[in-house]
Amino acid sequence: MSDFDFDLFVIGAGSGGVRASRMASSYGAKVAIAEESRVGGTCVIRGCVPKKLLVYASHFHEDFADAAGYGWSLSEAHFDWKTLIANKDREIDRLNGIYKKLLAGSNVELIEERAELIDRHTVSVGGKKITAKNILIAVGGWPQKPDVPGIEHAITSNEAFHLPELPHRVVVVGGGYIAVEFAGIFNGLGAKVTQLYRGEQILRGFDDDLRHFLADELRKKGIDLRVNSDVASIEKTSAGYRVTLEDGSAIEADCVLYATGRRPKTDGLGLEAAGVELGRDGAIKVDAYSKTSVDNIYAIGDCTNRVNLTPVAIKEGMAYADTVFGKKPWPMDHTTIASAVFSQPPLGTVGLTEAEARRQYGAVDIYKANFKPLKHTLSGRDERTLMKLVVDRASQIVLGAHMVGLDAAEIIQAIAIAVKMRATKAQFDQTVAVHPTAAEEFVTMRVPEPDPAA
Ligand code: NDP
Repeated sequence: MSDFDFDLFVIGAGSGGVRASRMASSYGAKVAIAEESRVGGTCVIRGCVPKKLLVYASHFHEDFADAAGYGWSLSEAHFDWKTLIANKDREIDRLNGIYKKLLAGSNVELIEERAELIDRHTVSVGGKKITAKNILIAVGGWPQKPDVPGIEHAITSNEAFHLPELPHRVVVVGGGYIAVEFAGIFNGLGAKVTQLYRGEQILRGFDDDLRHFLADELRKKGIDLRVNSDVASIEKTSAGYRVTLEDGSAIEADCVLYATGRRPKTDGLGLEAAGVELGRDGAIKVDAYSKTSVDNIYAIGDCTNRVNLTPVAIKEGMAYADTVFGKKPWPMDHTTIASAVFSQPPLGTVGLTEAEARRQYGAVDIYKANFKPLKHTLSGRDERTLMKLVVDRASQIVLGAHMVGLDAAEIIQAIAIAVKMRATKAQFDQTVAVHPTAAEEFVTMRVPEPDPAA
């Protein structure tokens, strides 16, 4: 019998922590998990899931309009924000319940309290001291806002899910995943949206062709996307808020949403007391197996600031459980991870961008397809799709696949298998198309773009 209360104590019941705790328990470990907020974490409670429900809600606006080209006539449509939020909350409650049941069914003891480390084997939780042989930190991240005068008037994505009314005029600050997604949500629901990004082009780090293409599509949909725009101050006015920009111009708004990145939620966790080293921005330093600077303490997910995506945290949790409790050690592979931005139209991406591929491989072949999706021939909507393959010229291995357009997230998930397997362009070409789809373009692109170096 162990000298500790538990074999494993997990701090944070988000996607990563829950998966790791259940797997460790399945290997016979006695496991407890602490959560100070709601079980499910960012993704389920205030991130991916409610966000995607809001994206669906906002897309109906276009769907109703598009139906006309197909012969449908509809009486005027009305949208009710309160109904949407109540229904969304009910679904999140249901998922929260499922997560709790999963923990109970896996014999993981759930402690709904904040936990802090006292030393490498002891946590303080709900006024009690609990000891554990192993500790896993999976506390996630939290939105961060820059220090701008009046920033207290701005909300983050956390609050955006609980606004009492749909704002009529929204200013979204940022050019990353969350900013682009929420700009699309509010725009689709009928708000006047201004999106401000400080750099040259939104979605830094994504393939440049996709960034420019998506920016054009967002503008066509009515989002007032302004690049090279910095906020100088935010003031409360009798009618709402005034956002003054560095160039002296001002925008009136009912809601100012900052989506300027997230920070590991590691403050006040007692990490220093336990000897756990932190890197820049409060991220926990870990090795390839997610082990921290202390042998019995591991960390997974956004609090390690590696690749901040839910499925990554889940896989890191699985690697942890297999490694420490399953006698099957494996390091998480952070290469070639597909992701999607649920913009409207959505963006899907896997593997290297053209710029990264040129840097790493030198000569590359680029294939592109830019077309109007079949659906929009009759709807008349001016929305296009861009698909792109990045191929290593020497080996003909497909290094990256990128897409903006209808169903991009769904399509890129399947293409990601081929890219992860290092399929060649010839193998893509041997694959018979499914017709008529947009996805078939990924296996029918034959002529590379002219080589800029030739
Ligand atoms: P991102 O890091 O993606 O983007 C942050 C944005 O804010 C960037 O455009 C950045 O500009 C800008 N920014 C940062 N600091 C400032 C500042 N001081 N003033 C003005 N602008 C600033 O963060 P998000 O908040 O959008 O999302 C956090 C993470 O959550 C993502 O990185 C992603 O990992 C995850 N996520 C994933 C989703 C998905 O898979 N669909 C959805 C939502 C979130 P710059 O580029 O110049 O640095």
